[in-house]
Amino acid sequence: MDRYAVIGNPIAHSKSPQIHAAFARQTGQELSYEALLAPVDGFAQTVADFRAHGGRGLNVTVPFKLEAFALADRHTARAQAAGAVNTLAFGADGIHGDNTDGAGLVRDLSANLNLELAGRRILLLGAGGATRGALLPLLDSRPARLTIANRTVAKADVLAALFAARAGDTALDACGFDALAGRRFDLVINATAASLADELPPLPPGLYAEGALAYDMMYARAPTRFMRAALADGAARVADGLGMLVEQAAESFTLWRGVRPDSAPVLAELRRQIDAG
Ligand code: NDP
Repeated sequence: MDRYAVIGNPIAHSKSPQIHAAFARQTGQELSYEALLAPVDGFAQTVADFRAHGGRGLNVTVPFKLEAFALADRHTARAQAAGAVNTLAFGADGIHGDNTDGAGLVRDLSANLNLELAGRRILLLGAGGATRGALLPLLDSRPARLTIANRTVAKADVLAALFAARAGDTALDACGFDALAGRRFDLVINATAASLADELPPLPPGLYAEGALAYDMMYARAPTRFMRAALADGAARVADGLGMLVEQAAESFTLWRGVRPDSAPVLAELRRQIDAG
């Protein structure tokens, strides 16, 4: 049986085995998918062992996405742009590296949340790995404006400069949180790690245009602090990142198996389980 896994440290909390098992059942694909704990200094060796024992592909999570990028022999354009890899496929011709996080985000926004991104004003908070992965797929959706705001402004500036050539007609800019005062957006995406510590990026009030969506990449049982603050500040609707998680998995599954699973029932079941605690 073809073997797949998600590799990370820690990994016990990962929902990926459950998501991929559901995809495999649904599409009739014969495969196994496990959670693989790698020592922080033993990523490459753990991957080599897995591959030697029938491994066909891996999802890669914290803290190994940069090492996965370095390990891959070939990269997709979106992995190249992100400088990070969350999906590895092992073939006769070597190791193929992809990054499906940003595509998963865009698919969640457009297919699950019915948000047309073309022509919209988007604010992306944070300048870490999640933002890097999201930038090219977001730019490819042709928003009118894409603003990257970060606590450490220099990091946002670097990303805006790095992606300037890929912006097309989109006005791409970078700033600190203070400089957002007086500006309005149709979509605000929290790609900072603040929610993980139940903290809030210090945003000025009045960021949300009429009908705006606030999206937190983190997911949780209850609305995150970011989502609650956004509603109080006038966002018309809010969403967490569970859909992104399921959609990035669907992208990886499609890459490996050549069959696209139906993510909607899997997302609904996962949401039911999380809500039930
Ligand atoms: P990184 O560590 O690479 O980046 C962290 C970013 O958050 C930096 O821009 C940092 O700013 C900022 N930050 C951290 N704490 C605060 C704070 N208290 N206030 C304001 N800004 C803060 O993390 P990632 O990019 O990998 O992950 C970011 C989030 O995205 C996490 O919550 C993660 O769980 C989520 N994620 C969700 C996915 C999904 O499938 N749903 C997939 C990938 C990520 P500075 O540069 O100033 O330090």
